[in-house]
Order: sequence, then C-alpha cells, then structure tokens
Amino acid sequence: MAIPYSKPSIEGNESAYLLEALADAHLSGDGRFTKACNAFLEKKAAAQKALLVHSCTAGLELSALLLDIAPGDEIIMPSYTFVSTANAFVLRGGVPVFVDSRPDTMNMDEHLVEQAITPRTRAIAPVHYAGVACEMDTILSLAKANNLAVVEDAAQGLGATYKGRALGTLGEFGALSFHASKNIISGEGGALFINDQAYAERAEIVREKGTNRSRFLRGEVDKYTWVDVGSSYLPSEIVAALLLAQLERADDINARRVAIWERYHAALAPFAEAGGVRLPFVPTECQHNGHIYFMIFDDLSLKAKVQKALSNSGISAPAHYVPLHSSPGGRRFGRVAGPMTVTDEAGEGLLRLPTYAHMTSEEQDRVIEVMLSISG
Ligand SMILES: *Cc1c(COP(=O)(O)O)cnc(C)c1O
Repeated sequence: MAIPYSKPSIEGNESAYLLEALADAHLSGDGRFTKACNAFLEKKAAAQKALLVHSCTAGLELSALLLDIAPGDEIIMPSYTFVSTANAFVLRGGVPVFVDSRPDTMNMDEHLVEQAITPRTRAIAPVHYAGVACEMDTILSLAKANNLAVVEDAAQGLGATYKGRALGTLGEFGALSFHASKNIISGEGGALFINDQAYAERAEIVREKGTNRSRFLRGEVDKYTWVDVGSSYLPSEIVAALLLAQLERADDINARRVAIWERYHAALAPFAEAGGVRLPFVPTECQHNGHIYFMIFDDLSLKAKVQKALSNSGISAPAHYVPLHSSPGGRRFGRVAGPMTVTDEAGEGLLRLPTYAHMTSEEQDRVIEVMLSISG
C-alpha cells in the first residue's frame, strides 16, 4: 500500500455538523458555526479576536488592507515560504524584501532583519515554518523600535506556541490556514487573529465587503451600508461546520502528529550522524504541532538515493518551496536583502516525510526502514 505524504483525519463530528448546517436556514457566513469557531479559537489561543476567513491567503490580504499598505511600501519576510506571504502585500503594491533563513529551523533569520530595514519598511511578516515559532522576541522588539507592524503567517501554526503564547497572537495580526494540507482542515479555510484592539472594528468591516453589516447583525445600527474599502472574506457555514468538528479534535490530532515527529527524530538520528543530511531543530521556547518532519540534505546524491528508494517503496516524500526570490514572481515583485545561501540550499536539499494523525506505526516503520537501509 502506498503511503501518502498527508491525509486529513475525519472521524469526529464532521458529518453530523455538516448535516446540521445543511438543515439550518443560514448557509452564508457568520452563523452559529462560524461564531462557535471564532470563540473556540479565541479561547484556545487566548486571543482578543479571531475571525474566520476563507483562507490564510485572505487573512494576509485583510492584514495588508488594514495596514493601508501602499505602492512602494516594503515588507520584510523569508524567501522560504508560500507565495501568499508575499502576494498579499504585492496586491497592494507592496515590495517583499526577502531575508535568508536559519539553517536549523528554516525560519527567517532574526539577525538579518535589522539590516533589511529601510525608510520604506512598513511591516515584518515572519512565517512559522513547520509550526515552529520564529525568534519572536527579537522580531517584536525590532518592530517596536522601528515602528513596524508584525503580520505572522501562522498558516502552519495552530496549537503551537512560543514561550507559552499561541502562534498568530504575537504580532498585530496572525493568519492561520485550514487548507486540506494542514493539521486541522476545512478543505479551504483560514482565520485571522486581530491582536490590536485599534484594528478590531475595521477588520469586521473590510472582511464584510467594506460594510458595517456586522454591527447591523448585532443590532447596533438599523441598516447597513458601504463605509470603507473591503472584499468578501467570509467562509460559508458549511465550511465552518466542518472546521468546528476538526477544532474539537485539534489537541488530539496535533498530539498524534508530534508523536510521529518524535519517533522519526529518534529513529533517524543514526542516519543523520552518518553525514550528508541534517534533521530539524526545535528551540526550547517553542512547542511545535508536528506539522512537518523535514530533512535538509547537503549531499544531493544522498538525497537522490533517498528519494528513489522511498518512491520505489510507494512512499511520498516531497520537497517543499521554490524560494520566492528565485521564482519569476519574486524576481518581478520583490528583492533580496543579502545573500540567500541557506534558502537556496533548502530549495535544493529539503525533503519532507509522510506525517498524518492516523499514520499507523506499521506505516511509519516502513518509512524508517527504507531510510535506514540507505547508506551514504
Ligand atoms: C498553506 C500556507 C499558506 C496558504 O494558506 P491558504 O489557506 O491555502 O491560503 C500561506 N502561508 C503558508 C506558510 C502556508 O503554509
């Protein structure tokens, strides 16, 4: 049997809630399932305000709108990330300024942020790769000293913490993803944490097509109207119903994934000691959520052997990002601040191993066995 890279875990109230949502008259957004998801996220993350959106991409776009990002404004971010981190700002005319990553976590190297700041810099967009937090104390204090906003791309971060605080709640904004490839899923889906009260009311408006419909629904105004720029960022109640069932099992799903991550880490130590590859690192102040188990090969012929052996055994072990600075879009819309050595190496040498909450120990044994059968 083939072993896929990932597979959603659907075994709780998903079907029941979907049927309930279908039976309700209210199928558009901001009904009881959306409200329950917002409340769940606020409680779980100890966040001031969470709003469901239709994707993490939407959450990042909403952040760029709320910050009034204008043409020429610069946003400092890693190059080793998904396109949405950059595109959300590029849509407003912003310029992504890429900095290199740390070789141990593949997160933006916090020591390279300061040299990337210019008079045009408006924001920093750290990405918590694999659900392992960036070095946020350094990033937040640089942001404060230079009057910059922090927009966390916490797409992979639900349930993970930095010094005990939930990812996505540390900057002004934090965007989560519930895309089918993440730990907790609703097919497509996302949420935005709004951590600065000053943006709370406007966030509701921009998310609701630039209208004060949210106030109307709370009975605070007697009709609603166009008051600001905006777009349509709400998921339907169908999506929220599926998400609520997933959120109820978030701790269990994440714990299972962390156990799988730890088992890989222990079993593969001898493989890494033989050289040519390094395994991931989790700083002590970070609790991760088992989103990705990755390895970075500096010996590319060893990587080719591993890929071939895994694929011959029906095991999917994909690479990850094409670094944004070397992609056609990144070259056109962004620029680099300094050398991108670590990012380029990961672009060539990073592989991810299958991880999903219901991976059996027999399945994981097979992956580990194939890995250990390979020698450099
Ligand atoms: C998945 C992901 C996104 C995009 O999430 P969507 O919900 O599909 O918009 C953005 N950034 C990172 C780092 C991701 O992993």
